[in-house]
Amino acid sequence: MRRAPVFIGDAGPKGKGVFAAAPMRRSTRVASFRGRPRWIWEIPEAIWPYTVQVDYDRYVIPRKGGVVWFFNHSCEPNCVISGDGIKTERNVERGEELTFDYSTDVDWPGFAMKCSCGSRSCRGVVRAYRFLPPELKLRYGNRVAPFILKEYPQKQGAARSGPAAPAGRRAAPRSP
Ligand SMILES: [Zn+2]
Repeated sequence: MRRAPVFIGDAGPKGKGVFAAAPMRRSTRVASFRGRPRWIWEIPEAIWPYTVQVDYDRYVIPRKGGVVWFFNHSCEPNCVISGDGIKTERNVERGEELTFDYSTDVDWPGFAMKCSCGSRSCRGVVRAYRFLPPELKLRYGNRVAPFILKEYPQKQGAARSGPAAPAGRRAAPRSP
């Protein structure tokens, strides 16, 4: 991947954040989540806010001080999850802070983060994907973490002709 033109800067009350160093077109990949997944209980709790969930109880620890480490949440983000990374969802101007919706990458039911994104549609508290309002799930569609896609087959677009999941019970999500 060509290095996206981003820099880490002061994001006010949120601390540090990731900003566009140059104008970027829609669908520019700006961050990658690649890394060795670890079990949540292997990770010190102080690091949890910086981790990226990649499966049930499995998380990647981003490089400390790197782009993913400082990528902030917004309830009205200009970036979305795309596979194992983040891409811009619209054209972005130089100097804009890049954000994505943490609820599209976390499905641990105990997750609750007070939000200070300041957007008009701020949800106040950011929680797991499963608690997102249905209209937001529809809007994000498949632009969520791959493990979430697997667990919640998306229903937007053409109606499926068969059942969304194979007959029988799907694995129940683990509780903390
Ligand atoms: Zn918010």
